[in-house]
Amino acid sequence: MPMRIPFANSYAALPKAFYTRINPTSVKSPKLLEFNEKLAADLGLTIETTDNLAEVFSGNTIPQGAEPLAQLYAGHQFGNFNPQLGDGRAILLGEVIDTKGIQREIQLKGSGRTPYSRGGDGRAWLGPVLREYVISEAMHALGVPTTRALAAVSTGEDIYREQGLLPGAILTRVASSHLRVGTFQVFAHRGQTENLRTLTDYAIQRHNPEADGPMGLLRATCAKQAELIAAWMSFGFIHGVMNTDNCTISGETIDYGPCAFMDDFHMGRVFSSIDQQGRYAYGNQPNMVMWNMAQLATSLIQLFDDKDAATAEATAIIHAMPDQIEAAWLSRFAAKIGISAPTEADTDLIQDLLDLMQKDGADFTNSFRALSTPEARDQFTDRDAFDAWATRHAARIAPLEDAQQVMDAANPAIIPRNHRIEQMIQAAVAGDMAPFERLMQALSTPFALTDPELAKPPTQSEIVPATFCG
Ligand code: AMP
Ligand code: MG
Ligand code: MG
Repeated sequence: MPMRIPFANSYAALPKAFYTRINPTSVKSPKLLEFNEKLAADLGLTIETTDNLAEVFSGNTIPQGAEPLAQLYAGHQFGNFNPQLGDGRAILLGEVIDTKGIQREIQLKGSGRTPYSRGGDGRAWLGPVLREYVISEAMHALGVPTTRALAAVSTGEDIYREQGLLPGAILTRVASSHLRVGTFQVFAHRGQTENLRTLTDYAIQRHNPEADGPMGLLRATCAKQAELIAAWMSFGFIHGVMNTDNCTISGETIDYGPCAFMDDFHMGRVFSSIDQQGRYAYGNQPNMVMWNMAQLATSLIQLFDDKDAATAEATAIIHAMPDQIEAAWLSRFAAKIGISAPTEADTDLIQDLLDLMQKDGADFTNSFRALSTPEARDQFTDRDAFDAWATRHAARIAPLEDAQQVMDAANPAIIPRNHRIEQMIQAAVAGDMAPFERLMQALSTPFALTDPELAKPPTQSEIVPATFCG
């Protein structure tokens, strides 16, 4: 029996205005680079050893039951509204119900042009595909809500980017849905209230069955996004392109383009080469997610006859977000210094440590990880300042052993450092997948120091200061 994906599609049953049916464009000679067997089992896929997975996950063979389509959406890119984006290089095969009963979408990314491609080639190159594979799976292992990576194939075709000709690849992405703020914006902008209502009902049914109407959906989405941002912040993660089309209703991290984990701590850190103004800098991410939720609110208000009342209610929901983010941030960062039941007074202790890290250029991940050991002060150049902080800390956290456990469960030993990702990509382009496998292995248990070399910050010459969208 050939591979079976137990599709139970629902997006394809939505009105035609939501998408365009289109098949992936075949590629020359697909080769399977990686396949996530554990995720495949969770999704209920049945695989035989004779199956040609590269054929399926390149889009050359459409699996039985798939209803391939490209989704329509709009979005604010760096604050400017683009009335039509849509899947320009991604094609949804359909949804399955996973072994936990949760609906999951299976999408090919880099699978050819669609009506939404605008000037783009519909393709992806190997670098960003492997980057997304490693980082999204690392985020999952860290416990951060995220889209997942099911497969990566190389296409055997070269594609053209600024850097020159590069090997093409396709990522199979799994998401609890690909609904974005931008999906709501496209219908709101077009004044298609019926489609907006259908979308809202669909999103409620998929993600928040308990939500009471559009305001309930807004409230639930804000809560999820507040938690998500606090999780990102707590691991030093910088998304890099928090446009409204890259902001999910599910609360999962999506679109691993120019994202990166920072090494030495700085609130203003930016990696993305296209983020000239620092709009999506590390420390600005809370503001930006609130901005995105305000755009969702603006779209949803259109569903109400009494716009003034709806605006007042939505405004109150958005205005509650700073406190939500603050609380989620405090809970995450307090755990990082060994406090499991924080009070607001702990904010100063955390902030003072972060200020010290920034002043000293201390490594974010390693400084926090070292806090449960006697070596923490080695991470800092101003040792007196650190010792003074450590005295306050010691007074707050006793008993030490409990605090150490809390710290070690909140502070990863290994993160996907940017220089390691770049080295992995260069090796893969040269046909060597060993660094990829090594990263995947170590990042599957990020709270254990299984590969100490990977925990080291970059040397001066290894630093990769900029990332690209790909
Ligand atoms: P992103 O910045 O990755 O969220 O992408 C923004 C928009 O550009 C989305 O509509 C993408 O589908 C589209 N896009 C990005 N890269 C390509 C490409 N190579 N070909 C076609 N469309 C693309
Ligand atoms: Mg995107
Ligand atoms: Mg992208």
